[in-house]
Parts: sequence; structure tokens; C-alpha cells
Amino acid sequence: MIDQTLSRRSFSRLMGLSAAYAASGSFPLANSTRAASPSSTLVRLSSNENPYGPSPAALRAMRDSFHLAWRYPDEYADLLTEELATLNSVPAEQILLGDGSGEILKLSAAAFTGNDKKIVIGNPTFEAVARHAGVANAEVVKIDLTSDYRHDLNRMLAATNGAGLVYICNPNNPTASITPSTEVSSFLTKVSPTTMVLVDEAYHHYVETKEYESVIPLVKNHPNLIVARTFSKIYGMAGLRCGYCVTQPNNIKLMKVHQIFDSVNIMAIVAALASVKDPAHVAQGRKLNTEVKRLVCSELDSLGYRYIPSHANFMMIDLSSKCGPSSNCSHAATPTVPSIIAALSKRGVEVGRPFPALPSFLRVTIGTSSEMKSFLNAFGAVMG
Ligand code: PMP
Repeated sequence: MIDQTLSRRSFSRLMGLSAAYAASGSFPLANSTRAASPSSTLVRLSSNENPYGPSPAALRAMRDSFHLAWRYPDEYADLLTEELATLNSVPAEQILLGDGSGEILKLSAAAFTGNDKKIVIGNPTFEAVARHAGVANAEVVKIDLTSDYRHDLNRMLAATNGAGLVYICNPNNPTASITPSTEVSSFLTKVSPTTMVLVDEAYHHYVETKEYESVIPLVKNHPNLIVARTFSKIYGMAGLRCGYCVTQPNNIKLMKVHQIFDSVNIMAIVAALASVKDPAHVAQGRKLNTEVKRLVCSELDSLGYRYIPSHANFMMIDLSSKCGPSSNCSHAATPTVPSIIAALSKRGVEVGRPFPALPSFLRVTIGTSSEMKSFLNAFGAVMG
């Protein structure tokens, strides 16, 4: 049983972290609101959500804004646009709000892909934009990641002839790996200006390595660059639906014609406004994610499982690393990822779906310390 394998000290530290944060009241969902989730016994580590929830200031802002529900949100959308422009040091006309960053991806596909304009993406990566491009009848060209899980930008560049859009997810979902910013900026200088480049920075705030930087400052000199951001991850607002992109005004014009009016609702807007004014919550969320992730990694190390170094709030564990041909594991063969997903689910732990490009890897969101304890216990039992 994993309980015997897990070091007592690691787990008491893991549990202590959660207790300290809950006691500080900084993470409201650690106490009360979590109980209202659809299944309070299920440990959901499948969607890369932020288990600590929104900033207390965002919750307050929403409670204080019920009386605004009858109005269309135009003025508030303008306020948020201004606030995001200031936050990112760009003019307001370079910001487009979306109903989650998912809407930004959809608008990018609608505006810049089609029959004669293919899309080039990494493999594996977050596939939503490719799905939307497929609906627009665009060819989807998938380029495998490098052996160290960066986007293979040389090969992606070579595939851009006739491409309307290139999608670079950084950090990448599902691998939680980064593509160094020097490589992304060099790609931008080489790709045709008629090919749009969509850089998805949904997990930006979790990254701690200096090799990665946001490419938002490059929008000024690259009219073909779109950078997508979301309030669903570090800001803990996945259920509210708010995202945005930074890009030059002409691109916004081309994207907006595909967007419904007022696509971001007033509750999401007031929560986002309050969230950007609470940078301490972001820093604390990143710190806690890193601490819990470190402890999970150390437990996986002691159990003998390899994993891809994670720069986000989820990670990929290689199930074959313990049971591969050169190991002294007693299994006849590596258990398949779908079978482990199903077995974990029976024990009340939901993890990510299988990714065909990386068939031996399991994607697991970094939850709270107690959720990760449940995961590690269930993982030990089903892999044992
Ligand atoms: N981009 C990436 C890389 C994601 O992983 C996700 C959601 N998991 C999204 C965009 C969409 O997020 P949302 O629509 O909630 O902003």
C-alpha cells in the first residue's frame, strides 16, 4: 500500500500546507464553498482547475453586484478592457474579451483558418482550436513535440506554407512543458506575416523558470501575433467564463465579427476586475501549487515513476517508467492508461483523458494537498 511507502514527514508537510492556508482564510474554497460541488466525494483532477478558487475580493465583488444583473455589461466590459490594457502595458484597442479563452481560440479559428488556410499545431497539445478549424474545413497539421516536449518550431515553420494559423500552447497542455521564449520570438521573425500565430498562455502564471516569458510585449511589432489569456486557471474562475487576448486592432476587427454581442457576463467581469487588483492571490496560488507539486514529485520519485517536469498546475506521469522492459517491476506488462483512469475513477479520483500521442502518460491536475494524498493513495493501490 502506498501509505506505507509515502514518507510520513512529506505527508504531514503536505497536509500542513493545506491547513495553514485554510486557517488563513485566503482560499475560501478550502473551507466552505467546496462542499457545494456536484459530488463532494469525487476528487476531480481532470480539468486543470484551480482548487483554491477565486480571490476573496472577486467573491465580494460578485456579491456586491447582483443589482447590476438587469443591465447589459458594456460599461463594465470597457472597464475590464482598460484594466487589462494597463496590466499588460498595451493600448485598450489591443484587448478583446472572450467568454473564456476558449472563445478567443474559436474566434481565431473562425477568422484565420478555412478551406484554403490550414492550421499548424503541436502534438499533443490542447486541441480545441484545431477542432474549431476543422469545422471551418481547414486542414489540421500536427507536428510532434521535441523529445524534451518543446514545440518543434523548426518543423512547424517548415509546415506553414499556406497556413492561416499556427497555434503554440505555452506552457503546453497536456505536457505542462514550456517552449523557451527565445525560440518563440525567433519563430515570429521567420514566419510569413500572412500567417497568424496564436500563443496560448492559459498557464502563464504558474511558470517559474526564466527560460519562459510572455510574448505579449511582442504584439507591438508583430501584427500577426495573438496572445490568449484566461481567468480560469490561476484566478480560479473556470465556472465564470472569462478570458481575453492581446493583438493588434485589425485582428480584433476580423475576430469580432464572429463573436456574439456581450459574450462576457457581468459576474465574470466584476470578478475579473477585482482579481487583477489582487496580485497577492496570484502569487499565493502559484506558491501553493509549486509546493504541493514538489511534494507529489518527491513521492513519485520515491515510488520510481518518471514524469515530465511540470511548469503548470498539472503534470504527466509516465506509467511505463516503473513497468518498462528494463525495470524489475513484477507486472507482466505496463497497465494501459485507460485501465488506470477507470480504476482510479472507481476509487473516486478523476484524472485526465488518455492522449494518443503519449500513450503511456497519465495527466493529473495538481489539486489541494489532501486531494493529492487521495490521488497518491489510489494511484499506489491501482498500480500496486
Ligand atoms: N487553453 C488551454 C491550454 C487550456 O488548457 C484551456 C482549458 N483547459 C483553455 C485554453 C480554455 O480555457 P477557458 O476557456 O476556460 O479560458
